Amino acid sequence: MRIAVTGGKGGTGKSMVATALAVELAKNHKVLLADLDVDCPDDHLILSIERRKEKDVMLEVPELIEEKCIKCGKCAEVCRENAVLFQKEKGPSFMLEQCTACTACMIACPVGAIGRKSIRAGKIYLGSGYGLDFISGELEPGQKESSPIVNATKEVIAHKEDNYDFIIVDTAAGTHCSVIAAVRGCSVALPVAEPTPMGSHDLNLILELLHELKIPAEGVLNKEGIGNRKLAEDVFEEHHVEICSIIPYKREIAELYSRGIPIEDESIKALAKKVQGWKK
Ligand code: SF4
Ligand code: SF4
Repeated sequence: MRIAVTGGKGGTGKSMVATALAVELAKNHKVLLADLDVDCPDDHLILSIERRKEKDVMLEVPELIEEKCIKCGKCAEVCRENAVLFQKEKGPSFMLEQCTACTACMIACPVGAIGRKSIRAGKIYLGSGYGLDFISGELEPGQKESSPIVNATKEVIAHKEDNYDFIIVDTAAGTHCSVIAAVRGCSVALPVAEPTPMGSHDLNLILELLHELKIPAEGVLNKEGIGNRKLAEDVFEEHHVEICSIIPYKREIAELYSRGIPIEDESIKALAKKVQGWKK
């Protein structure tokens, strides 16, 4: 069973919940923790897991064959990522850090003036610790398109899926393409919210996205005790999403987290129990 731990806003405690839930579940089950926040993966740091590189993620990106180019500009017209800068006199320039290797420009070029070259866009790492297996994707410095790395990491996960009772997917914050790529294929999502005005605004966005993607959601209200709990509760209620876990704001939790130790709290144990029930 694949479960996404996600959240509209950064800093809600998404990675803390994902790592603590995975460690708790791993006491009785086979668990793979997948860090798909590929722009800034940090679950291995939270759990002090030493990663080893499994493979590079290569992308086949466009390369101009200048002598063939007739400077028609069609490649720039079809590029949805604005990765082609076209100037009438100079012709096209490809900004590869923005390219998703979709091949649209290659198909659109009327004279076959766009070839391909392979670049490293990211890496996939494996590791283990606290009784669980771990995988994470990581975007190459300078690259901007994170979805291809998420998708490449998901391909590796798909080959291992049958070995595990639970795959806990920690997504990036927000509602952009790489979050969509990460939550797709999950049976349930746990959107983590904090009881603040900004947290509620972004919670609304992630719940809308999960609804669009038809992924059932159960809410986690983190840092209960700060801010105004009702703000988040109202948003969950508007979207008909039950709150399945409330994690209190406690000094001990923050201390464990900052020391790279997965948090032990009754609220996490209760969440794990609930999640185990979904598998039956
Ligand atoms: S491969 Fe796709 S994203 Fe990359 S430059 Fe061509 S059209 Fe743009
Ligand atoms: S579509 Fe082909 S020919 Fe036209 S500008 Fe782009 S590379 Fe040159």
